[in-house]
Formats: sequence, C-alpha cells, structure tokens
Amino acid sequence: MKRQIAEILLVGTELLLGDIMDTNGKYLARELSDLGIDLYYQTVVGDNPKRLREAVNRALERSDVVISSGGLGPTCDDITRETFADALGLELKLHEPTVERLKSFFTSVGRKMTDNNMRQAMVPEGATVLTNDWGTAPGLYMKKDQKHAFLLPGPPRELEPMFRERVRPILFDMSDRKFVSDTLEVYGIGESALEEKLRDLMQGADPSLAPYAKDGEVLLRITSSGADVAEAKEKNRGMIQKVLERAGEYVYDINGESLQRALVERFSKKGLKIATAESLTGGLISKRITSVSGASAVFELGICSYSDRIKNKILSVSEASLEEYSAVSEAVAMEMAEGARRLSGADIAVSATGYAGPTGERVGLVYIGVSSSLSTRAVKLDTGRRTGEREYIRSLSASRAIAEALREAGLFSWENSCCK
Ligand code: AMP
Ligand code: MG
Repeated sequence: MKRQIAEILLVGTELLLGDIMDTNGKYLARELSDLGIDLYYQTVVGDNPKRLREAVNRALERSDVVISSGGLGPTCDDITRETFADALGLELKLHEPTVERLKSFFTSVGRKMTDNNMRQAMVPEGATVLTNDWGTAPGLYMKKDQKHAFLLPGPPRELEPMFRERVRPILFDMSDRKFVSDTLEVYGIGESALEEKLRDLMQGADPSLAPYAKDGEVLLRITSSGADVAEAKEKNRGMIQKVLERAGEYVYDINGESLQRALVERFSKKGLKIATAESLTGGLISKRITSVSGASAVFELGICSYSDRIKNKILSVSEASLEEYSAVSEAVAMEMAEGARRLSGADIAVSATGYAGPTGERVGLVYIGVSSSLSTRAVKLDTGRRTGEREYIRSLSASRAIAEALREAGLFSWENSCCK
C-alpha cells in the first residue's frame, strides 16, 4: 500500500488574527508522525465560506487524509461541516442519536438547548459520527474515493482526546505497517553534547532517534515500524538499550512526562515528603510540583521568601550570612533549605535564590539548596543567560531544584521509572 499523505486544516479567523496560538496543529502533527503518516501541509484558514471551500478542495485533491480543527460549533461562523459535505457531494441529514445526546447533555447541565445547537446534529450521508465525550460538537469521519476526512472540534481539551480515542484507531488500522514510539526524558546534558554521544544512532530511519530540546531538558523520541506492534516494540527496546548504555546517567524517565511528575510518583511510592523555600522562582517550584495530581501525598510546604527580612524571620536564615555573603549565595541557599525542612518536617527541602534580571551585574547566577537528614548542600547554577530572559532563568532554576530533590532521594535514575 502506498504511504498516506496527510494534511491538517486549521479553521478559525482567531488564528489568523493572532488572538490564539495554534496548538492543535502541533499536536496533530506529532501524532501523525508517530503513526508513520507523512504530513505535507498544514493550512490555516479563516471562517470564510469561499476561502474555506478553496482550502478544503485543495486539501482533498493533494492529500489522502485531511484532518480539520475548528468550525464545528453551533454559531453561524462554524461552517466546516457544511463545507466538507458540499465538497464531497454529500447531503446533510439530521442524525437522531446525536439529537438525543445533545438534548440529554443540555438537560444534565441544566441549560436550555437553543435551535442553532441542532446544526451540530446534521451529519453528511454515509459519514461516521465521532462521539464527543468531552464537549458538545461531535466529530465526523467522511470517506469518499480513497479520501479520508476527519473533522474535529477546535478546543484542544476536546480535540486531543477525540483524536486519541476516535481517529487514531481508524488511522492505525488503515496503515499496513505499525509504528510505535517511546520517549526518554533527559536532564543535565545539553542537546549538542547529547547528540555527540548518540550521533551514529541518530542517522538511522527505522528505528529513528530524534532529540527535542525544551527549557533545559531534552526529550529523545524513538520510533520503529514493524509488521505488527510487537515487532516495532522490540526494535524500540533495542534502541533504548543502546541509548541507556551511552547516556543513561542523564535519563531520568522512560515514557515519562516531566521532572515534577517523576518526583511526585517516586516520592509518594517511598513515602517521602518535600518542602520548598523560594526566592527568585517565586513559587514556581511549588506550582510545578502541585500541578501534578497526587501532589498532596508528597508536598508539605512552600514558602515564597522574597525579602531578606522574611528569609531571616520565617526561615531563620542568619543575618550574618545575609550580610556577609548576600541573599544570593551558597550559604543562604543552604540555610533557606534547612529552614524549610525544619519548619515542615519534610524529608527533603529545596531552595532557590538568584538573579533573574533583567537588570544587575550577575543576572543568571542562581544557587539551589538541598537539605535532607543526611546533609545540606548547595549547587551553583550559572544559567549563562543574561538580560531579558527572566522567565527562562526562573524556569531552569525550578527544573534544577526538582532534579536535585530527586537526586538527593536517590530517585533520579530511569530505573525508578514506572513505565519502563
Ligand atoms: P470552534 O470549534 O471553531 O468553535 O473553536 C473553538 C475554540 O477552540 C476557539 O475559540 C479556540 O479557543 C480553540 N481553537 C480553535 N482552533 C485552535 C487551534 N488550532 N489551536 C488551539 N486552539 C484552538
Ligand atoms: Mg471557530
């Protein structure tokens, strides 16, 4: 079977005006590449009947699989459904099961269904309704003359599960080769240094090994194909092994998500508690940890001690250290972490103090403190960033603090991964 060519059609005037940032295109592109489907085009088009019609026609002409996002709502600018039906020469008919679903949805949320909502129940003849369990607008799958069109709603929290649960299985069955992807989460080595270690492995196409750098971390994506899933998985396993042999010390998770997710999972498994004392990060470390579900099992206390007075009063950082070394110093980072641990009774406390800029001479200089019952230490983090990168410096600092907490607990390594 020839390889399928796909195209993504992002519909919405708000995208062209720059009012919202497209995330659906990025999400779908990633998923298609995982499925081994070649994506040649991403088109952004406004809610304009003529231009949308042109974009739909062009997409159906040059691509085998067209996935659209947006324009399935009840309002008059939502015209994706009608435009595709028209382009494929399919007539729209009222779909009773969808009418019933919409009615019971509105009853369940105690809202009155308006007439225009009925448009969402219009389905092109022969189309498959992709049930939307995450919102009101159902998705649609239309097939004609070897062309496959998938219409999905715009909101990412609907589009993403809709793709995963409804579209992916159909695309997966369409392809005769099965693709499997795994990820390795890497921290503590830059993208180029990592590439140096893995260059020859990155030359291959199947399995493929590709790095993606993000905020001081690197994600390695490994993808293989096989006649069946088991064969593809086996190929991935071989590649994972090779990467671990060469750079395993930097790999903190397999098919994981983030440092904070690893921390919450591993600390809760061991019954460990964490506390934070933050200056330049202003609560970012606490925020990252508490945004993981299940954080309440591990997170005890977060103090945002921005001023020297509070560092001294609440965390008992000594006036002598503040005066002699200044707030941005190894000594103060250590005392902050100790203070947070003492106050909270947590097993491990981390702190961050530094210069986020943009003004000042030592912008980018950060100390991370780590305190446990074994010892208290501080690491100097020279982010190498200068003015204008305030958020980046704060973000790198938070990542380092979480990584150090994992190291202190002896839980940094991928061997603690729950998904390996
Ligand atoms: P619609 O299905 O056209 O009614 O889209 C509803 C909402 O989905 C929009 O107001 C946006 O908030 C969101 N949305 C639409 N397209 C995208 C996109 N490409 N990326 C992220 N969000 C989107
Ligand atoms: Mg719209």
